[in-house]
Amino acid sequence: MTQPCNSVNSCNVAVIGAGASGLVAARELRREGHTVTAFERQKLVGGLWVYNPRVEPDLLSLDPDRTTVHSSIYEALRTNLPRECMGFRDFPFVTRPEDESRDSRQYPDHKEVMKYLQDFAKEFEIEEMIRFETEVVRVEPVDENNRKWRVRYKDSRGVSGEEIFDAVVVCNGHFTEPRLAHVPGLDSWPGKQIHSHNYRVPDPFKDQVVIVIGNQSSGTDISKDIATMAKEVHIAAKPDTYENQSSLYSNLLIHPTIERAYENGLVVFQDGKAVHADVIVHCTGYKYRFPFLEPNGYVTIEDNCVGPLYKHVFPPALAPGLSFIGLPSMALQFFMFELQSKWVASVLSGRVKLPSEDKMMEDVIAFYAKLESLDIPKRYTHFLTDPLWTPMFEKLKPHEAVVISQSEYFNWVAGQCGCPSIEHWRDEQYNISVKRDGDTFRDDPWDDRDRLTKEAYRDFAKFKPTKVCST
Ligand SMILES: Cc1cc2nc3c(=O)[nH]c(=O)nc-3n(C[C@H](O)[C@H](O)[C@H](O)COP(=O)(O)OP(=O)(O)OC[C@H]3O[C@@H](n4cnc5c(N)ncnc54)[C@H](O)[C@@H]3O)c2cc1C
Repeated sequence: MTQPCNSVNSCNVAVIGAGASGLVAARELRREGHTVTAFERQKLVGGLWVYNPRVEPDLLSLDPDRTTVHSSIYEALRTNLPRECMGFRDFPFVTRPEDESRDSRQYPDHKEVMKYLQDFAKEFEIEEMIRFETEVVRVEPVDENNRKWRVRYKDSRGVSGEEIFDAVVVCNGHFTEPRLAHVPGLDSWPGKQIHSHNYRVPDPFKDQVVIVIGNQSSGTDISKDIATMAKEVHIAAKPDTYENQSSLYSNLLIHPTIERAYENGLVVFQDGKAVHADVIVHCTGYKYRFPFLEPNGYVTIEDNCVGPLYKHVFPPALAPGLSFIGLPSMALQFFMFELQSKWVASVLSGRVKLPSEDKMMEDVIAFYAKLESLDIPKRYTHFLTDPLWTPMFEKLKPHEAVVISQSEYFNWVAGQCGCPSIEHWRDEQYNISVKRDGDTFRDDPWDDRDRLTKEAYRDFAKFKPTKVCST
């Protein structure tokens, strides 16, 4: 393991990406006294929340040489969590009633999240650290001690360059590279196929028979959006949830997973029911990808597990020079980015020590062994979720929650860098929210909503200069 950069504990750090994770990483690194250059290939901050009506030419995004579109946001998207728990701790995601263009709903639309991130960047003067329209194409250690890192980049005019940094913090997001489920017969099925990454609006599905594979957040939202235009929408879902029916959309039907697709256009579900469909929409999630780190094998990705990584952040052999923000999913994202960024910044400055490389590797191996002993497939390595409510993990006992629970993880990271634990209201609001469903869950009243919102706003009042308003 290399040591933090130098005696004055100030490093020259490259951040890759200026989405929510890159923005807060840049802020935390500068707060800790580091010099930051953030590379962002888009023209704006916000990452995934920069809505792009364009889609990729290859609607399944299979072609590795395709021109990628970063965002996976569709026009009707509203947040799947209440805004209070979503925001950064010291820059709360509060309503802005003084500005009529803002969405003051508790589950706002995607434009409001984008504006929040722009406000954040402005408040902390982050844009001055960002090189826009500049894509990082290669990251590699300069020497075998991994003390310095060479970053190669290319700007929008095709001009390339390279610079040397003490450390690189990877914040490139992981909702751009589609993952597809294997469905027998799909290769010769004649209909149209599209991944949710390339879904924007329901209009092209007018009067069509559509199958949506997957019923996590995107699958349920997109199927309802399409149901406003399509003749029929059939969701193919895992058996533990397919009983749920929509009360609002009579043309929305839920089935178990697909057994086989046929050349004549027929699609047969596990329960024997069959439909002639025009389109299949894959809402089957995303894969981690770090093209600028290939093919050197600094980290490997096996069945969507990025490793080896100490606590999902530091590759033991390359720490602290290389780190990753935001890999865990099924967790409060912005809050986690903030905590992980504080940890990375304080490790780089030398204020906080990492264990030795061997000790970190031991921890990683023990973690993997624990997942294996609990029969948790590798692809769930970065899931931070509460086994008490996730059907996938329901066989786990409460005491085993430590392997994957988000609050345990957050509090561990917070403890490393001397930050307070997750606020009680935030944890509770998140845990209640992820269990809520139904067609109108975002606007329906819910138990404890007012109490938790009040508690949140009481907390927010501590933070200046953000203007805090609870209505
Ligand atoms: C459909 C959908 C809905 C979601 N809804 C919610 C929600 O309601 N609430 C919530 O909290 N979370 C939600 N999320 C999760 C969301 O991804 C996170 O909230 C968060 O915005 C991710 O931030 P990020 O910075 O990690 O990645 P991104 O926002 O993807 O940002 C990564 C940035 O890195 C840049 N980049 C990538 N590669 C390079 C490179 N080589 N060189 C330079 N720049 C590069 C990209 O251009 C991008 O700007 C949702 C995700 C999806 C897919």
